Amino acid sequence: MLKDDEVLVVCPQCGGVNRAQRAKLADGKRPDCGACGAPLFVGAIEARDDAAFARHVARTNLPILVDFWAEWCGPCKMMAPQFAAAAKSLDTRVRCLKVDTERLRETAARFGIRSIPTLVLIRDGHEIARQAGAMDARSILRWAASHGAE
Ligand SMILES: [Zn+2]
Repeated sequence: MLKDDEVLVVCPQCGGVNRAQRAKLADGKRPDCGACGAPLFVGAIEARDDAAFARHVARTNLPILVDFWAEWCGPCKMMAPQFAAAAKSLDTRVRCLKVDTERLRETAARFGIRSIPTLVLIRDGHEIARQAGAMDARSILRWAASHGAE
């Protein structure tokens, strides 16, 4: 059973599911993966493939903020450092994932992504908000907060 004060996150390296205590995270503690030793909280996480993305969503109890992007997309590249900055400040409270729509085609199709960059906010496995177009870090944080992810 998961307790209210526990955070469940998937290791960006090995995919292992880890538990962390909210109070310790709030105190600035940053635990490593119990399975492989990699840091669990590293800001924005590039989802390796469709299966890895699905695993993050299924096994994480934090809200998830996804940046759908592609290599050829100029505005996506402009937004990348902004998303990284927002992810850093949301780390431990909101899991921030990046989805390369050229590689993770199944995921992009499942979410019906028509234009990029697009941000999607997921809670308990369900999309609760989306926003198309490049945003700066402050706007990303404000938008996420307006949907309860802060
Ligand atoms: Zn690991």
